[in-house]
Amino acid sequence: MNYHIVTYGCQMNVHESEKIAGVLREKGYDTQSPLEEADIIVFNTCCIRENAENHAFGNLGALKKLKREKKGLLIAVGGCMVQEAGKAQLLKEKFPFIDILFGTHNLSELSALIDKKRAQKKAVISLKEAREAVEDDIKPFRTGYPGAWVNITYGCNNFCSYCIVPYVRGREVSRRADTIIKEVSSLVQEGFKEITLLGQNVNSYNSDGQGGMSFPELLDACAEIEGKFRLRFMTSHPKDFSKELVRVVKKRDKICNAIHLPAQSGSDRILALMNRKYTRETYLDRVRMLREEIPNCALTTDLIVGFPTETEADFEETLSLVKEAEFASAFTFIYSPRQGTKAEKMAGRVDEATAKDRIMRLIEQVNENTRKCSESFVGKTTEILCEDFDEKKKCYLGRNEAGRMGYFESAKNPIGEFVPLHVTRANGVSLFGTVEEL
Ligand code: SF4
Repeated sequence: MNYHIVTYGCQMNVHESEKIAGVLREKGYDTQSPLEEADIIVFNTCCIRENAENHAFGNLGALKKLKREKKGLLIAVGGCMVQEAGKAQLLKEKFPFIDILFGTHNLSELSALIDKKRAQKKAVISLKEAREAVEDDIKPFRTGYPGAWVNITYGCNNFCSYCIVPYVRGREVSRRADTIIKEVSSLVQEGFKEITLLGQNVNSYNSDGQGGMSFPELLDACAEIEGKFRLRFMTSHPKDFSKELVRVVKKRDKICNAIHLPAQSGSDRILALMNRKYTRETYLDRVRMLREEIPNCALTTDLIVGFPTETEADFEETLSLVKEAEFASAFTFIYSPRQGTKAEKMAGRVDEATAKDRIMRLIEQVNENTRKCSESFVGKTTEILCEDFDEKKKCYLGRNEAGRMGYFESAKNPIGEFVPLHVTRANGVSLFGTVEEL
């Protein structure tokens, strides 16, 4: 039987889709197929940004015809959008052909929900307010070789005023360190070459005392595992980003010199309204500390423009932060209100034209940093972990430690291998070059 999963949102969701695929394969849906040929279609939704939510709604509508034409087709919708207050009901009313609605806290229940739906005509809805168990026994069907993701925490305690995550994914819970280390170790033995530890705020790992050690200790222990592989982690919250962590990154060659540290804004007034619990100066202090310890560390960030009441002066502080922190690249967003968050109720919405103008100016500044960073690799050799073959460009590609994507030709298939790329040209975040005969 065939399955098709549509994933919206971040890496956290991509990894959850791997878990969903693991459940489906156990259930006998053993082949991934195009949407039209699937016996079950699962939408793994995201509600963090309005765009992802709108896409999901649009694409779900298009399934109506398929559902009518294909007897026995099951349609399931999961992910954090379903956890949003009132959303499951709305989905049910708007798309009555949905068979199963499930939340982020009950992936392991999906198999039983499919059985239940097969036995009844009515749609099956199962939502849980909080995770019942931190560990589940799902074996993900991993699709990111040579990379693999490993959850270390679920949920978040921070309540940034614009963010819906703590409401839909619940409070932060940590997986046990010994279980995480065992998982990383097995992945390395299976041949995975880049492991990314995932959490909404990895730095507060073990805040519930359930992990058994701090995040720097956990990272250090993972880096001790034998074998040639890289370790990454995301996301770091600036308020909890410590010298201890930076020292572990510096000490261990396996941990990439690449940190993603979302700043969100450069204005203290906006940071306070966002409830980020740090100031511009504290953020820059962390950056200086990082640069002192690891001068060549690639620092990336997330930035929001058009937060309620943001003035031109506030925005200019964000622009100047980008220059000062010398980000290697940044994800930039226009603020979008999320229902149920504090920011949604704030007065002083920034009009669309102003927000668009600001994001264009911000992107221009970010691109300048990106260009500088990429050009610094030209004429040098950088180690690439080959990930894939680009059919359009007819060449192999993979990332270096800093996260730059390198492209090269090779007579031999080097996917899953570390290769030295001699960089001859850079464009945006991409590097182009040659490798010696492999
Ligand atoms: S740290 Fe803030 S932005 Fe990140 S998930 Fe938690 S509440 Fe959302």
